[in-house]
Amino acid sequence: MKAEIISVGTELLMGQILDTNARFIAQRLAEAGVDHYYSSTVGDNEQRLFDTVKRAAERSDIVIITGGLGPTGDDITKETAARVAGKRLVLDEESLSAMKERFERVIHRPMSENNAKQAMMPEGCIILKNNNGTAPGCIIETDGCAIVLMPGPPKEMEPMFDESVMPYLARRSGRTLYTRELRVFGIGESTVDAMLADMMQAQTNPTIAPYALSGEMKLRVTAKCADKAEGERLVKPIADEITSRLGDAVYSTDGLELYEVCAGLMRENGATLAVAESCTGGMIASMLINVPGSSEWFLEGAVTYSNEAKASRLGVKHETLEKYGAVSGETAREMAEGIRKTACSDIGLATTGIAGPGGGTPEKPVGLVYIAAASDKGTVVERLDLGGSRERIRRSAALSALMLLKKTLDAE
Ligand code: ATP
Repeated sequence: MKAEIISVGTELLMGQILDTNARFIAQRLAEAGVDHYYSSTVGDNEQRLFDTVKRAAERSDIVIITGGLGPTGDDITKETAARVAGKRLVLDEESLSAMKERFERVIHRPMSENNAKQAMMPEGCIILKNNNGTAPGCIIETDGCAIVLMPGPPKEMEPMFDESVMPYLARRSGRTLYTRELRVFGIGESTVDAMLADMMQAQTNPTIAPYALSGEMKLRVTAKCADKAEGERLVKPIADEITSRLGDAVYSTDGLELYEVCAGLMRENGATLAVAESCTGGMIASMLINVPGSSEWFLEGAVTYSNEAKASRLGVKHETLEKYGAVSGETAREMAEGIRKTACSDIGLATTGIAGPGGGTPEKPVGLVYIAAASDKGTVVERLDLGGSRERIRRSAALSALMLLKKTLDAE
């Protein structure tokens, strides 16, 4: 089966946005064992888009198009693809009511006439529900080719692809795919590669696909199988072997984010948490509060950036700040113990560090971060020597603190 990707949008041609959709889809096609020979980008121009889709439909079995499904005049992908396939657009009542409901429930304003255009779908197509936005996607089947249309925003396109298009590809190619996603933090990409080199080289079915994220990694283990049970049977020994080689660095074997894993553990342990953040500036609190129901166990997050705030809000001693400095293991310890005590939580978590690009010294370089977790078992302090941009250092510090929280909870 030959697939082809078309990314639609003048912003892409102008270099204003990066084509991450094509990369995501290409990775998934590789995992699914689907041949991918062409990928093109085309602006919001009807004739050029028509020519591109027509040529793709003539030479490929699957054409996957993203972008241009919005309600405005320059969103012409659906009309154009339908024209290539010789289909009319007809109103899909189910999509229309799903959109109306989304406007009421999530967007909190009445739906405009413009938006109703997004419920006009090529006749006879397979509708792809959009659980993260308004525009539904669709698959238009013609003789010898399937044209897949998906919205441009990655947060809408990626889940739609995994939920609907991957199973469609599997059905069309006569294979079922089963994937488990392992999440890894604290070991670099090249070290992971070296630790798994023999497994990567020997892989046929299941396959192991590594992806580097900002400061962490994702390993997708995918099996071609008859059904889910066989998929799990094939994937489990590989996932277990990876986990035993990478140890505690594997924080999830089912695709959960680190903050979701921590939230689950907080709930299970029935413990409460308060966080004192300096260099991470609220990132940890923000990640944890992303999880619905976090109010049950998340008591307080304090961004104590100045020395004065560390002293007055958390009770860090002036002599500690003077003798060891704000970026020190001693200060991190007093921050964690201070927030735990003043917020009356079971666990106190703290970060303090130098995120750069300025502010480093030979003794305390940019990237030096201390994290601490205080609980009834005592206080654990860790020193981190992080690299990269300010954003990257702050994110790595926040994730490291969450790893420390996970360790603390695992030990409960
Ligand atoms: P909307 O309803 O939001 O207008 P759409 O399906 O019409 O969605 P576009 O208008 O083409 O999609 O793009 C909307 C946004 O989605 C873009 O501004 C961009 O941020 C993102 N986007 C579009 N295509 C891509 C792509 N190939 N890679 C990454 N991001 C993309």
